[in-house]
Amino acid sequence: MTSPRWKRIVFKPSGEALAGDSGQGLDGDTLAATAREIIAVRDMGVDVTVVVGGGNFWRGRQGAMTGMDATQSDHIGMLGTVMNALALQDALERAGQTTRVMSAIEMPRIAEPYIRRRAMRHLEKGRLVIFAAGTGNPYFTTDTTAALRAAEVGAEAVLKGTHSGVDGIYSADPRLEADAGKLTAVSHLEVLNRGLKVMDSTAITFCMDNRLPIIVFDV
Ligand code: UDP
Repeated sequence: MTSPRWKRIVFKPSGEALAGDSGQGLDGDTLAATAREIIAVRDMGVDVTVVVGGGNFWRGRQGAMTGMDATQSDHIGMLGTVMNALALQDALERAGQTTRVMSAIEMPRIAEPYIRRRAMRHLEKGRLVIFAAGTGNPYFTTDTTAALRAAEVGAEAVLKGTHSGVDGIYSADPRLEADAGKLTAVSHLEVLNRGLKVMDSTAITFCMDNRLPIIVFDV
């Protein structure tokens, strides 16, 4: 059997990746399938941690929500990630995987507070850790959260699972531009310079500074 390339990773599924075809809310079959795949990776001897997005519940200040206070909107977004974390925890535990949800916004009745040393202890004990509520701060994304938690827990890569059918990094949005080319490997700096829409620039810069590779794939 080939040995895995990384010993510890952060998997960052978008919120929509946990929803069904509608892209909204949660889908039981999708959650169960995601849980099975996560466990299959763990069974290869990889410590998987998960940072969940929230876009299936909240898309921010769009449409009728234009004009909402930005911080207020981001608080709603972070709460959406907590719902996703709890749903994924349920799916993983039903599939036999012990997990802990750690929230950056304290809500001790439903999740542990995020404490790095405690997260490390969970990983040592073979528990799968799901990081919820983003960084706990408005004006950030869960992509940045994934990069931050990766650095904190010593993960060697961030695996960004998208939902849109775009299975990697392209020179332009392949859904809009027919001649968009797929880039099999590209440096962080090139992503920034070319304005490639992989992650927000805060997340890319953080990964660049901390030498974290980002792998983009369609879940
Ligand atoms: N969010 C935030 N701070 C964070 C992480 C997330 O305010 O540290 C909010 C923000 O409003 C964001 C939402 O939570 O839009 C959901 O996260 P994201 O958009 O990254 O989810 P995804 O698009 O991956 O589903």
